[in-house]
Parts: sequence; structure tokens; C-alpha cells
Amino acid sequence: MIREVRAKSILNRSSIGDYVINPYVGCQHACIYCYAQFYARRWGRTEPWGSYVEVKVNAPELLAREIERKRKGIVYLSSMTDPYQPVEMEYELTRRLLDILRERNWPVLVQTKSPLVLRDADILGGFGQARVGMTIVTLREEVRKVVEPGAPRVDERIQALEGLKEQGIGTFAFIGPILPGTSVEEILELVEALRGKADVLYFDRLNVKPGLKSKLDTAMRRLGVGNWDRNLDSYYRRMKARLTEELGSTGMRYVFVY
Ligand code: SF4
Repeated sequence: MIREVRAKSILNRSSIGDYVINPYVGCQHACIYCYAQFYARRWGRTEPWGSYVEVKVNAPELLAREIERKRKGIVYLSSMTDPYQPVEMEYELTRRLLDILRERNWPVLVQTKSPLVLRDADILGGFGQARVGMTIVTLREEVRKVVEPGAPRVDERIQALEGLKEQGIGTFAFIGPILPGTSVEEILELVEALRGKADVLYFDRLNVKPGLKSKLDTAMRRLGVGNWDRNLDSYYRRMKARLTEELGSTGMRYVFVY
């Protein structure tokens, strides 16, 4: 269900960057591990995650006003939704917001799972500072279909990163959450696939928000990963230590955010 709404504000303070813009509420990518669904539920949304999107149709108008009153800072798109989910094809909200930010020369940090971002390379290439990242948790399509059922294919995301880089836009890959049961070798294979396409790699762990466990149980069962939530902390400690050992020799820049 897609519903048009009018938001009260759009350029909000954030711990990632200085500001965050969420042009939509809800996300058609429907990732099972998405923490935004936990907050959406807290705000009273009870429908299944991925089944609804609210489109903040007045977002460009709000931004044009708010940007005049605020001190310039890095704007992150987006923390609670994917700015390039399918509905963006029709509404072009993200595109219009970027255009306003570029006109005022505000720096942006865009994170998505969709190659649709390439549509806006003409705008992104005109920023003094713009970085665009793809979130990728696996190279395996059979895993992607289970954990990110509404999101684009992984190979398309990698190609999109390459396309952005070719157009001189700064890129990063966000490898997170690393899913329990993933081997170090699988992650290294993904790192290799990203060589030359992502300027920086970020790694993150899974944080199991309340209410998400049963969804994760079902998904992990489908993927054949038993007892996935046992000793999670030590799994991520070992993963970090092993990856740190291996990544040094790749010459690639990386950051663990956990
Ligand atoms: S793409 Fe991002 S916001 Fe959308 S469902 Fe997946 S994790 Fe959540």
C-alpha cells in the first residue's frame, strides 16, 4: 500500500553525518533484519514490514525552506528507509531533494541497495562532496532472496558501484549486517568482488532488535543455519579478528563499525 502524506519536517539531526533525510516511511525492500521496522512498530505501524510506504510528498518544499535556516552539514539519506526503493522511480523525491542540496552545495552521504541511484549520477556528480554506498551482505542470490526479498540483485548493486565510480563519484560498500553462519571466506570473496569499485568497506554486525527474533529464526532455518543466536558476540569477535588479519594484505580501506 502506497500512501501520500505531508510531513512536518524533513532535515533532522543525525548521528550519521550531521542531518538525515527520510523521504519515505516504510521500505519495499523488506529486509528481514531491518531495524527500521522495529521503530516503525514502536510508532504504531503494525502492517508487515515491506507492505507499505508513506511518501512524504511535501519533502522538497520542506527542505527548500529548512535548508535556509540551518547551518550547513553532511546530509545522510537515509536511516529509516531506502531512498531508492521502487516507489522512488515514480515519485523522484530523492532526486528532487538531492537537487536542492546540490544547489546549496551541501555535502551528502547516500546509502542504498538499489542501482536506481545511477539515474541520479548527473546530480551526484555535481556535488563538491558526495559519497554513495551500497549495502551488500552476501554474494549469494539464494541468501539475498531470503533476507532481502524486495531488494535488487547483488550483482546489479556491484555494477552500480562500478558505474558510480566511473563517473567520478566517491563510493563505499556497507557489508552489514554480517549474517550469522557466514564464513570468513564468503566475506573475503565479497571483498574481492568489490575491489576497485568501493573506495571504503564498512563492516557491521547483526543487532537483534526486540520483535525481530522470530523472523530471523524462520529465515535462518530456511538457510540451514541452526542456533544462529547462540554466542553471537564471540562469533562477531572472531569474524572481526580474522577479517582484520586478512584485509591488511588486500590494500583496501576498511572500517568496522562494531
Ligand atoms: S533497504 Fe534498508 S531500510 Fe529498506 S528494508 Fe532493507 S535495511 Fe530496511
